[in-house]
Amino acid sequence: MDITAFNTTLDTADLPTTIAGILDAFGERVVVASSLSLEDQVLTHYWVKACQAQGVDPHIFVLDTGRLNPETYTVLAETEQAYGFRYQVYSPDTQAVEALVQEHGINGFYTSVAVRQQCCFVRKVQPLQRALAPYDAWVTGLRRLQSPDRAQLPLAEWDAGHDKTKFNPLIHWTEEHLWAVVDSERIPMNALYAQGYTSIGCAPCTRAIQPGESNRSGRWWWETSTKECGLHVVDGKVVRKKQEGQ
Ligand code: SF4
Repeated sequence: MDITAFNTTLDTADLPTTIAGILDAFGERVVVASSLSLEDQVLTHYWVKACQAQGVDPHIFVLDTGRLNPETYTVLAETEQAYGFRYQVYSPDTQAVEALVQEHGINGFYTSVAVRQQCCFVRKVQPLQRALAPYDAWVTGLRRLQSPDRAQLPLAEWDAGHDKTKFNPLIHWTEEHLWAVVDSERIPMNALYAQGYTSIGCAPCTRAIQPGESNRSGRWWWETSTKECGLHVVDGKVVRKKQEGQ
């Protein structure tokens, strides 16, 4: 696929039009990554409808780290029920988790950035690699306004780390726009947002934010620098940080 032409043609298109373009290019060879967040719920809503209109199965995966909030599992089940599809749910490798917990303790991620990244590697990065393996392209709900690291995100890009095309069709969306669509389309929503959460992640590593704090400050709040889990984007490019022992 010509990524430059795709970006030029569809950069300002609406979401259904962009999704149709992705499906035209990749059909069932593309998968959506969902964390059951606000963005991913809106993306899932339009993605499933587009797939159903085109007669293709919606392929959407969730990384079940084993440490998600109960509310996240609830909205997962509610979304399957509402739209009539089944998520591809990936769990971490059992032996890798057991080794991690044996060495660092059940909540060892609080002790250092290195251990936290090791936990994210075992519980997220490795399962992500398995989730993406069968596909030629993947889709995220990342937005430019979420953080400075995401400010230059393109609509489509070559994900060299995973050797696939990657699409970010919500790059121009604002939080207000997302909530308006959730209300108008009655999209199932993670109950954590009503408790002050602005980011959906693992229970021990994500918390509600206080007025005036940035949306990302609820994630890994005890750390002062690194705020990514190794999955996504640095300066507009997908970079998976090397972990110790790799
Ligand atoms: S967010 Fe926390 S619990 Fe989840 S994988 Fe990363 S370090 Fe582990």
